[in-house]
Formats: sequence, C-alpha cells, structure tokens
Amino acid sequence: MSDNLNTKYIFITGGVTSSLGKGIISASLAKLLQARGFNVTIQKMDPYLNIDPGTLNPYEHGECFVTDDGAETDLDLGHYERFLNIPTSKANNVTTGLIYQSVITKERKGDYLGKTVQIIPHITDEIKFRIRKLARTNNLDFVITEIGGTVGDIESLPFIEAIRQLRWELGYKNSLVIHLTLVPYLAAAKELKTKPTQHSVKLLLENGIQPDILVLRTEKSLSNDIRRKVAQFCNVDISSVIESIDAKSIYEVPLLMFKEKLDEITLTKLDIPQGEPPTLSKWKNFLSKLYNQTHEINIVAVGKYVELQDAYKSISEAFIHAGVANDCKINIKWIQSEKINDNIVNQIFENTDGILVAPGFGHRGIEGKITTVKYARENNIPFLGICLGLQCAVIEFARNVLNLPDANSTEMHPTTPNPVIDIMEHQKHITELGGTMRLGAYTCVLNENSNAFEAYQQTNISERHRHRYEFNNEYLPLFEEHGFFAVGRNPEADLVEIMEIKEHRWFVGVQFHPEYKSRVIQPHPLFVNFIKAALNYKIQKTVSN
Ligand code: GLN
Repeated sequence: MSDNLNTKYIFITGGVTSSLGKGIISASLAKLLQARGFNVTIQKMDPYLNIDPGTLNPYEHGECFVTDDGAETDLDLGHYERFLNIPTSKANNVTTGLIYQSVITKERKGDYLGKTVQIIPHITDEIKFRIRKLARTNNLDFVITEIGGTVGDIESLPFIEAIRQLRWELGYKNSLVIHLTLVPYLAAAKELKTKPTQHSVKLLLENGIQPDILVLRTEKSLSNDIRRKVAQFCNVDISSVIESIDAKSIYEVPLLMFKEKLDEITLTKLDIPQGEPPTLSKWKNFLSKLYNQTHEINIVAVGKYVELQDAYKSISEAFIHAGVANDCKINIKWIQSEKINDNIVNQIFENTDGILVAPGFGHRGIEGKITTVKYARENNIPFLGICLGLQCAVIEFARNVLNLPDANSTEMHPTTPNPVIDIMEHQKHITELGGTMRLGAYTCVLNENSNAFEAYQQTNISERHRHRYEFNNEYLPLFEEHGFFAVGRNPEADLVEIMEIKEHRWFVGVQFHPEYKSRVIQPHPLFVNFIKAALNYKIQKTVSN
C-alpha cells in the first residue's frame, strides 16, 4: 500500500519534565482538528523496552489501557478515545521493545542478510514505518505522534532522529513539531522562568529538530514579554508560543487551546485552509454541566494501587462522564483494600452512596475487597464490581451465603476445595505472561430482566476484557438458587460476563472493563446507571431520615 500523500504528520515532544500532559495536549489538538472536519488519529511512542505496558505494575506506569483489538497500551490512548470518541488499535501504541523485537526478528529471518544491523538506519526505519503505516491504513488527514519521555533522555534519541529524518523525507510543509515544556513560577522571585524552555529547545536543536510551535505549561498567565522572549530565543514566531495554563478539568484544555489558536496556527503552518472554526457545542455543554451540578453523592472505590492517581484513570474519568449525565457531583474516596477489615468497615462506609471494587491482580488486598463486597451486599448499597471486583463478589457470596467458607479463586489459592473462580481452560497451558490474557472486545448477550439491560437498552453488547480467571460454571445453579444470577454471557465460550443479585437495590459485577469505553459525549451506560442508583439511594435515605 502506498502513502497517502495528503496526510500531515504532527509530532509532539516534551521537555523539562515528564507529566506535563502531552497526552492531553495531543488529544486537545486532535479534538479541534476533528471538530473542523478532519480525519485524525493519535499515536503514542513509548521509549521503554517492554513490548507493551501489560507486564508493568500500575505503580510504575499507571493504568494499562486495552483496545478493542486486544492491545495492552499506555493510558494516553484512553484520553485519545475519550476526547475523539473513536477507537484506537494496536497500531496506536509503539514501544522501543516492539521496534527492537521486529528488527531482531527480521535479522534472524535473514531480511538484512550481509548487513550490519544498527540503530540508524534499521531502528529508525522501523519507527518511521510504524508512523507512516498508521496514516496509510486509515486514510487520515493527520497523524499526531506523541513521543513519550523528555527530550534529552538517552532512550528517546532514536525517536527524535526518526522524526528528523521523516520531516526531511515528507517535506517541511507536511509535518510539524510541537514541543511542550514547563515555565516554572519561582514564588520567591515572583517570576516565571523561561530558561528551562530555552535549554530544552537547544537540546532538540542539537538533535537536528527546530520545533515549530511551543506549548508552555504554566500556573500563571504568560505576559507578552515572556512570549516574546521565548519566541526570540527559540526561533519561533510569537504567535507560535502557546500558553497552556493549569485547568480545573482536563476537558477544558481543548477550549483553552482553541483560545490560544493552536489549531489555527497548526493549519496555517501546514498550508491547509482554515474553513469554519469549530463550534464544539457538545463539548461546551458537557463542561458547563460539569461545573454546575445540582446533586452530590459519595462513592467509595476500593483498589490496591490507590496511592497513584493514574492507576485507575479510566474509572475516574468514567465517573466524571456519568456524573455529568446524572447532573451529579461525585466525591470519590479511593481506599486501599489492605486497610479494610471488619473492625473499620462501618467507619469507612459511613455516608457512602455507592461502592465500587476495582480490577486487580494477585493476592494483596483481596480480603479487604471481599469485606467491602459483604458490606455493600448486606447493607443494600449500590455496588459495581469490575473484573476482580466481580470475582470478589462471587467469592464473598460463596463464603457467606452459600456456606462455602473456603471458597476462593485459584489465582489466590490454587488448591482451594471450592474454586468458584477458576482459570479459563485456554489459559491453563500458557507459560508466557506478556500479552496472553483474554484481551480485547468480546460479545455478551444480556437477559432482558436485568439492571444491565436496563442500562444498555439492548441485548447484544461488546466490551473489552483483560483477565485469565473466570466464574466457574459448575457452581452456577447453586448461586442462582440463592439469588445471584448470571445475566450476561459470552455466547461463543459460554463464559459468565455479568452477575447480579436480584434482591439487592443495585448489585452488578462485570467480568469486563466498562471503563475503557466511557467517553465525554458518550458516557458508559453501566456507570450512568450505577450513579443513578447511588443518587436514588441517597435521596431515599434522606427522605426516610
Ligand atoms: N486477576 C483477575 C484475572 O486475571 C482479574 C483481572 C482484572 O481485574 N483485570 O482474572
């Protein structure tokens, strides 16, 4: 397949520090271009040696996002999907590990026979190939490629060099480099400082790249003098110095970037007619609702990686979307599952309107999650269990309702006499841990008489998965006899996907991850109805008091 000659390539690099929000800037620019009618996607290049983040502890790298086609990816892809409302795929996340793996595989096959295989040209060629391939397969107007890490890191050098080469190959009117940096405010001097930005641009220049646009993260508004200084010392025109001031919500950033004309300057530099400016009416509507909510509820979310706010990114964002849909501000209290036990449950869940048990792996904190489920079940508090959250609900029900005190998942207790959660058949002989779970989108058929159906309003749904263990169907008759029902199943493999307690106010456990599919203008139905149930519960409590 040949290149789409109309595709424009935008590269986003970062300087000074990490965590400046390159993902949000990339997603915001993409949103503005999309709103102008362009076909756009975003790709993330991660300069680490893991093939994908699936084998990383969330403490290391935040949440692992999962695409429909089963890729375990960087959490920025979640932002891309939430902003653009279009799915990403395997091709949208590339790591150094993946690049090296394919080059080394080709070397073993003899594809480079007779040649010395080197970072330049072989690694850089592979990087360029991955960028251009994305443009070709999707017939895109723009590919925005975000380079992870910070300019100056040894590990990102091949990516920077690949951009340098690609710009030369594509022509400078077909590509653009946007560099995101920090302008720190020194409280003692009462001054914003531009020197780190100047140094970071100098580093890029040393590697042969002159950025076209500079986006400056700042906590205070940039004066004209500051803009002029940055422009002069970094060789860009003053209109290409864009302020990115701290925002109350990440969803404000597209509007802030529009105000700063990031999209307009991008189009001008790439010689593309402006057309009509975007109205972004749905987006603005979402924001005004976000800032003016009538109701308020308290949700407790229980997980094992709660110290890191990025570890459950998609769940936190799904709550924001569902809150707007219910005109309801959600106060989420994240609790470390290891801290929960019978002695303090009452205290932890005082004034709680809904309880979520998060996904997870391994034994740590599992008993705290099971205690949490018990509290939600016995006290009739709206409950949503996701993946391991559903599995904990199953274990809890088996132990406390079915009288199987030793019930467990074989993940936690491989020889448990009552394996109510067991490893899936096709997982039993897998020895390699990377990329081998049940991953990506699978269909699920819903019973019409269920909370899930009430939420989705359709019987056939598709949701994304990431697990090795599953409800053990041998126990299903016993569970259903006691009121815990399988209301969603995967028809091909007859796997239980959703379970609900009928007698409960709203008790839903799902084997998949609904949070991956919640978007700003399409909040996820299960989250929406969970929040609705929590709000109704709060109202009922107030009335009966
Ligand atoms: N550890 C469980 C499994 O592999 C749950 C996984 C998850 O919560 N994503 O089945």
